[in-house]
Order: sequence, then structure tokens, then C-alpha cells
Amino acid sequence: MSIIDGNAIAQQILLEVKSRVAAIAPIVPHVAFVRVGDDPASVSYVSKKQKTAAEAGMKSSLRLFAHDVSKEELFAHLDTLNADASVHGILVQAPLPGHLSETEIFNRISRNKDVDGFTTSSLGQLAQELPGTFAPCTPAGILELLKRSGVKTAGAHAVVIGRSLIVGKPVALLLSARGTDATVTVCHSRTPNLARFTREADILVAAIGKPRLVTADMVKPGAVIIDVGINRIPDAAKKTGCRLVGDVDFDNVAPKASLITPVPGGVGPMTVAMLMKNTLAACERAAGMPAQSREPATAPTPFKA
Ligand code: NAD
Repeated sequence: MSIIDGNAIAQQILLEVKSRVAAIAPIVPHVAFVRVGDDPASVSYVSKKQKTAAEAGMKSSLRLFAHDVSKEELFAHLDTLNADASVHGILVQAPLPGHLSETEIFNRISRNKDVDGFTTSSLGQLAQELPGTFAPCTPAGILELLKRSGVKTAGAHAVVIGRSLIVGKPVALLLSARGTDATVTVCHSRTPNLARFTREADILVAAIGKPRLVTADMVKPGAVIIDVGINRIPDAAKKTGCRLVGDVDFDNVAPKASLITPVPGGVGPMTVAMLMKNTLAACERAAGMPAQSREPATAPTPFKA
């Protein structure tokens, strides 16, 4: 068994991005963040993304809105960012308060600046396998982890647990896209006898949000395990009183797997790295640079009959 080191692979991607950012100077890629309210996880995610952008030589900006901001106020701000040629990428940090529809807010972002890949247009383009589409960052990061770890996807049976628009659905699209060519089964909370499917997986992607739901008996020997879950469980030994675990029972599943991502240090760092990669690509596109240099790594190959 080997561990897929998401920190190391993300670092490698960030170095590549940084060197490309230096090469396109004096143009500076700029990602604009929008955060609503003070959800502690959102505060920490946006701060991490801004720090990483600075390390990669990119500009970032942040606009904060109160928890009770209206849809109209957010729309007005997004319209300003859409029209600002110095802004290349826009990210509205989820989750948004209940009175706002995330789909409606995300859809206000111009397609060319949708570096998070959550607009209806971007997701539709992903389904249509159009080149140059910004895939959502976590699924794009998963594909990159597989690619850079030498995992053969063509002909493999990939089982995805979870059908969310953020992870499950887009990762299933990317895995089954032409050029990646996995055969994909999607399972979810209404799937009876989950283990029957997971035991058939050459590649198992767990995006559930339930601590250590995937146990050793549910895994085929030699499978590649990608654990997307981030769950906080009580741990009296920790200063904070809790620690992070994934959706996979790592200690018992790892000996059975050929490759496995840890939590933390697996998929998480890739999400941020892919956001930087997407922002660079958006900037290069805006500057009219040749397509070859700006295609996101996960852009599916155009359809050949
Ligand atoms: P979600 O709640 O939107 O979706 C969870 C999915 O799991 C659903 O589709 C549901 O049908 C399925 N599910 C729930 N219980 C199940 C069960 N018992 N059996 C089978 N399927 C079940 O969550 P999400 O946004 O897709 O996130 C999933 C996990 O990934 C969470 O822990 C989240 O924190 C984590 N996450 C991590 C990153 C990262 O960067 N590492 C990014 C996004 C999400």
C-alpha cells in the first residue's frame, strides 16, 4: 500500500502555477473572493485560499457581506466584478445563508470568471465535454491526484459514493469523460446494499460526509481509495477537543488498498491548488494567450467520433 501525498502533489502544481505566473508578468492573475457571514470554516477556507494565491504570485481580494445581505446587493457586487477587466476569477464561498439560493448567486458569475466551476453553464459544459471548461476544484483535484499518481483510469471501474453538485456528480462526469474512460457507478444515501457496489471498485471515491463509513470489508483488495470526506470527531487528546477524519476507516482500509489518500493531507490541498490553476487559466484566456497554455489539466479531450 502507498499513501497518495496530496500536500506534495498540490505543492508541485503550485510551483508550476507560480512559474507560469512569473512568465506572464506584468499581467497578474486576480481572484476575487466574496464571503457572506462569519461561518468559521468559510473564514478559514477563504483565508487559506488568499494565502496560497499570494504564495503563487497572484493577487486576491475579499469583499465581506453581513449574514443578512440581500440577493440584490450580492448581484450588484458580482456584476461589478464581472465587468472589471482586472478581475480574472470570482469565488463566492459556500455555504451561503438559507435565504439565498446558491445556484442563483453562482449563476450571476460570468462564465469566463467561474473558477470554482459551479455555474449551470460550467457544469453543462463539463457534461458536454467542451474543452476549456473550469471543472469544480475538488473533482478536478481528484483527477489530478489520480493522473499524477499513475493510476490507470481507462477501463477501470470507478465507484463514487455521493451525488452532490460539488463533488459526487462532477467527479463522476470527469471519470467517465473521453480520455479518462473509467466506467462509473454512482451510489448515494438511497443506494441499498452499498457494499455490493463498493466491493467492485477499482477506484473508490468517498464523498459522503460520514466519519469512517467505508470499512475494510467494503473494499476490493488492491483498490485505489480517494477519501474526500472532512469530518470532525471528538478527541480528548487534542487541544481543540476534536480531530479530522475522512469518510474511510483509514487504519483498516489502507492495508487492503494499493493507493489511498489520507485525511488531512489528501484531497483537501488539491482543491486550493486547482483554484489557482483555474484562475491562471482564466487570466491567460482573458489576455488572449494561446489555448494550449491555458487549458485546465482536466479539460476533457474534444469528442472524436
Ligand atoms: P453532501 O452532503 O452535499 O453530499 C453527501 C452525499 O453523500 C449525498 O449525495 C448523499 O446521498 C451521500 N450519502 C449520505 N449518506 C450516505 C450513506 N449512508 N451511504 C451512501 N451515500 C450517502 O456533501 P459534499 O458537499 O458532497 O461533501 C462530502 C464530504 O466531502 C464532506 O465531508 C465534505 O466536508 C467533504 N468535502 C471535502 C472537500 C475537500 O476539499 N477535501 C471539498 C468538498 C467537500
